[in-house]
Amino acid sequence: MIEEVTPKKSLGQNFLKNQITINLIDDILDIKEHDKVIEIGPGTGAITDNILSKTKNYIGIEKDRKLSEKLLKKYKSEVKILNQDVLDSDFSKLFDKNIRLVGNIPYNISTQIITKCILERENIISAHFMMQKEFVDRIQSSFGSKIFGRLSVYCQVFFNVNKYIDIPADDFYPKPKVESSFFSLVPKSKIVLRDDEIEGFLKFVKEIFNTRRKKIKNCIEIKNHNMYVNIEKRAEQLSIIDMVDLYRELKNDGSFI
Ligand code: SAM
Repeated sequence: MIEEVTPKKSLGQNFLKNQITINLIDDILDIKEHDKVIEIGPGTGAITDNILSKTKNYIGIEKDRKLSEKLLKKYKSEVKILNQDVLDSDFSKLFDKNIRLVGNIPYNISTQIITKCILERENIISAHFMMQKEFVDRIQSSFGSKIFGRLSVYCQVFFNVNKYIDIPADDFYPKPKVESSFFSLVPKSKIVLRDDEIEGFLKFVKEIFNTRRKKIKNCIEIKNHNMYVNIEKRAEQLSIIDMVDLYRELKNDGSFI
């Protein structure tokens, strides 16, 4: 199907064309018959063929109308392909819990997809995505690294992040300017925050990384400088546990609400 399509840059259309990589992804996914899979942007069906050979509990969400029509023609009534924007989709209305998300994600919506996974984390059991390598390195980086940032914390609070492979630009048509990585997010069974702390903590993390060059003591107006966590450090130098402790200390003494 790939040869019949004129790729649209606006929809981040870089189609996987290397069958060896496609099969490697299939091995990593290890889809079982009972799995409920939502594929984001099936495109020309590069990953879809393998998924459908394992499970029929499949829904593809494809924004490109022409591509979704081609997919429906190719797979007939066998599958459900929704022609809609994934960012307007409510996964919990498509399958009841335990959803496996899969997708070669357009680079321009990567951050929104991660945010969506966080919001819908109770409905999914795993998300396996291909995204820009630089972006994946960022979300799985640890404190002390220059690339450790807000998104790394957001992801690692809620998910175990695991990168499997880097994929060269040559494996795609058209060839993108960047390398990609295939990785997974698996929701943690227990997170370090209580439910009533989540919203405030995410706000706190955003605030301390907005001024990442500044020491913590200069990012936030702190009433009591006698803190357990070292406020001489910058946000990127704090572990997630330190950030949670600091957030709780600041909340308790009224410096951060
Ligand atoms: N899965 C195919 C592959 O690996 O060859 C296509 C991947 S291509 C990088 C991204 C796909 O996502 C395209 O088919 C594009 O039309 C679709 N897409 C882009 N934005 C979307 C959105 N907001 N919602 C749903 N699909 C989207």
